[in-house]
Amino acid sequence: HERIRLVVLGGAGVGKSAIIRRLLGQGFSERYRPTVEDLYSRECVLGTLTLKVDLLDTAGDLQFPAMRRLSIATAHAFLLVYATTSLPSFECIKRCFEEVREQRPDFQEVPIVVAGNKLDLATTRREVPIEDVSEWLFCELPKLRAKVMECSAKDDYNVKDIFRCFVTLSRIV
Ligand code: GDP
Ligand code: MG
Repeated sequence: HERIRLVVLGGAGVGKSAIIRRLLGQGFSERYRPTVEDLYSRECVLGTLTLKVDLLDTAGDLQFPAMRRLSIATAHAFLLVYATTSLPSFECIKRCFEEVREQRPDFQEVPIVVAGNKLDLATTRREVPIEDVSEWLFCELPKLRAKVMECSAKDDYNVKDIFRCFVTLSRIV
């Protein structure tokens, strides 16, 4: 693909929009504005290849089932976001993953990155060990197509690496 449609899923308040804002170079805000659905575009230059990435930010729960089904059906790749400080948010991405599995017979070929956000808060408030996430993910998917990483949209830690990961997983370079 020269154009990648990346769909971001995960529970409300985990930082999906904050991660996207970081990727777009828009900084960080403590304020919380709930999302319905927003589409952003960004160009990635990789050697001689210019890649267009469309990022679809979602509401992250079951409020808009029809929109959600369409997002999942048309995605080239998925970013599943949970918060390292919230066990329920990990349970939530497991349900998101089940939706993807049910709606996409090709789910094993679709690049998936699972991102544990709010790492800046995890030293004192961690509820999700990364080992538990890896164990779950790699039971479901081949390691070649999936990756787990922790990040902080607030500290701008590992956010750009999430993007790089998709590129590697899609084997574009
Ligand atoms: P969304 O519902 O998943 O899109 O979540 P938002 O991106 O709107 O973020 C929800 C709240 O968490 C906001 O108040 C953000 O400022 C905050 N937030 C997002 N990412 C981080 C992070 O990495 N660290 C901390 N401490 N707060 C974050
Ligand atoms: Mg949002």
